[in-house]
Amino acid sequence: MNIILLGAPGSGKGTMAQKLTNELHIPQISTGDIFRKNLKEETPLGLQIKDIVASGGLVPDSITIEIVKNRLAENDCANGYILDGFPRSIAQAEALDTFQNIDCAINLDVDKETVVRRLSGRRFCPDCNGTFHVSTLQNTEVCPVCGGKLIVRPDDSEATVRERLKVYENTTLPLIEYYSHRHKLVTVDGNGSVETVYRRILSVLNK
Ligand code: AMP
Repeated sequence: MNIILLGAPGSGKGTMAQKLTNELHIPQISTGDIFRKNLKEETPLGLQIKDIVASGGLVPDSITIEIVKNRLAENDCANGYILDGFPRSIAQAEALDTFQNIDCAINLDVDKETVVRRLSGRRFCPDCNGTFHVSTLQNTEVCPVCGGKLIVRPDDSEATVRERLKVYENTTLPLIEYYSHRHKLVTVDGNGSVETVYRRILSVLNK
């Protein structure tokens, strides 16, 4: 199954994609993770996109689309995948339609207060890519999965979050209509605990 996860920053796309990956045995393709890896390794791409990601803007479509096209052509995507953070614009969605068939776009619908609360308490492990919330951590500095040092993602600072939410509303929100017109959209209430939201997703996928 070829699945897209849509939703605002902090709506839980990454967390849900990880759980779905484990259950469905298909890979999670996160453009944010791909970009963060390049930033960490200071590759030519990383250096090119550094300022854009730091400010909460979008990496140009030409770069992003090429990366996703190549990644989806790899063998592990043959039986399906979960796209997390792509597409983020109509141009990206149109490009995706030229080289892939999407079965379903799941829109995680969350209240603005939930988004702000989740992002402001988010901690990230650069070693294993795990994302956690301070409310569930015994030690907010140590990754409970691999023992790495947890950080606040630089793009989770207040100013950058505001910019990312603005970009989401202007550029990414129109995708809801895009997939709705194509009868591919399912909206899931993304408020509540991880397990509650995950159960809602499984129940729509089972239909
Ligand atoms: P995320 O982890 O999905 O929130 O992505 C982190 C950052 O990576 C975003 O704020 C953008 O700067 C960049 N990014 C991720 N996915 C895309 C995309 N599909 N198109 C453009 N930029 C992206």
